[in-house]
Amino acid sequence: MPSPFALFFRGKAEVLLRDDDASPFIPVDSPVAARLVPKAALAYAGPALPHPAYRLNPAEPAPAAHHFAHPRDLLAHPDSAPVVPDVFGALGFLNWLSRHRYCGCCAAPLRPHPAEPALHCPACGRLFYPQMSPAVIVRVTRPDDGRILLARHCRRNQDVWTLLAGFVNLGESADQCVHREIREETGLTLASVRLLDTAYWPFPNSFMLAYVATAAPPFEPLRPQPDELLAADWFPLDALPATLPPGSLAHRLIHLPPSVS
Ligand SMILES: [Zn+2]
Repeated sequence: MPSPFALFFRGKAEVLLRDDDASPFIPVDSPVAARLVPKAALAYAGPALPHPAYRLNPAEPAPAAHHFAHPRDLLAHPDSAPVVPDVFGALGFLNWLSRHRYCGCCAAPLRPHPAEPALHCPACGRLFYPQMSPAVIVRVTRPDDGRILLARHCRRNQDVWTLLAGFVNLGESADQCVHREIREETGLTLASVRLLDTAYWPFPNSFMLAYVATAAPPFEPLRPQPDELLAADWFPLDALPATLPPGSLAHRLIHLPPSVS
């Protein structure tokens, strides 16, 4: 039975919410849906998602009594937690769909499969299932004084300090990736690593593995990899620099309660 609700996104990272209850679920038989569906630049209604999803152009204004928000903001509000899997899943699927328009084997245009959560090649019959990129994000602390390792990255958010992160290479485990990333980016060796949590992260399509780790001495000097980092340093938890806002995975990891870290 088709879902009575649809999700609408604007550009690559905004979701349409109702003003009254901040819900992203727009009734498919509403005047808002009737007006927006024909304007969608990308659309999917099929077995990969519980609700039809539509991507609007970045200039599309919000309808009356609605507004657009970054889906990450949903994480900052406990009341929104139940809708996060549907919203993140739809956004990640649309991101994947926009980059998989043709068969990688025979170059024919792909079509949504009617029964599988996949795209189908009508020419050669191959199925293509949505893919995610696994990545680690690591909270490293010093066992001698409890300070935390933060860095400023070259390519993004240059003015904030955040945790180190990186994509898992083919052939390595997530634990091995943690050791390699920290060693490559700072020269540090880790004494222990522990998987704390996982989260799907549709910006654009990552599966994040959140780790806590302790560094092994010597803790100094840090050697920030110049291609990746502008700076890296140790910070006391009661004197942190500017970090990413609430709602980001990095913020949640940095501000872990002492009992967890
Ligand atoms: Zn094909």
